[in-house]
Amino acid sequence: MIDTVVPAGEPWMGVVRRGQTFRIVDLEGNQAVDTLFYNADDTHEHYSAQNTIQAQGRVYLTTGSVLISNRGRPMLRIADDTCGRHDTLGGACSAESNSVRYALEKRHMHSCRDSFLLALARHSGGAPGGMTKRDLPSNINFFMNVPVTPEGGLRFADGISAAGRHVELVALMDTLVLISNCPQLNNPCNAYNPTPIRVMTVGDISRESA
Ligand SMILES: [Zn+2]
Repeated sequence: MIDTVVPAGEPWMGVVRRGQTFRIVDLEGNQAVDTLFYNADDTHEHYSAQNTIQAQGRVYLTTGSVLISNRGRPMLRIADDTCGRHDTLGGACSAESNSVRYALEKRHMHSCRDSFLLALARHSGGAPGGMTKRDLPSNINFFMNVPVTPEGGLRFADGISAAGRHVELVALMDTLVLISNCPQLNNPCNAYNPTPIRVMTVGDISRESA
């Protein structure tokens, strides 16, 4: 069973078993939760933004969205969503993007990519063959508002989430979850104020087949 508060700006990793429902709660509102999913038994299989968008024929994620792997298999299904929609186009912030988008002196600020790498290093314990930056594909940004304009443009806009809103995902395979509770301070994805989230499994009794 999972039930933990992830502090502002921190990463988190855990395994959600097939049939379990994984809930992410935006405790204080407008907090971007950069997330990746892997097949817990073979981490070369991971979430694919491209396959997911193609399969559902739309760019936002919400209730009913099935998250598809790079091998074309369903990994999780969004079963409940009190935010309304989630982004999978905007990517994760990094030292490099902070430098290019904002200023060179922003390079040393905390970023999701660095948080992902820190979590992977802890997870692998530095073992040979452990997960590295090669294992970081395009991610999901839960609770983040990246509207697509009628002309096809993208921008990071003020959030549409609020305190206590949540998203629930049913795991369709044993899934390794990698989260960076985004520490970004240079754009409105966290309302310029990163805050904690809660991650938990709920209703562990029911099991759903893939
Ligand atoms: Zn970030």
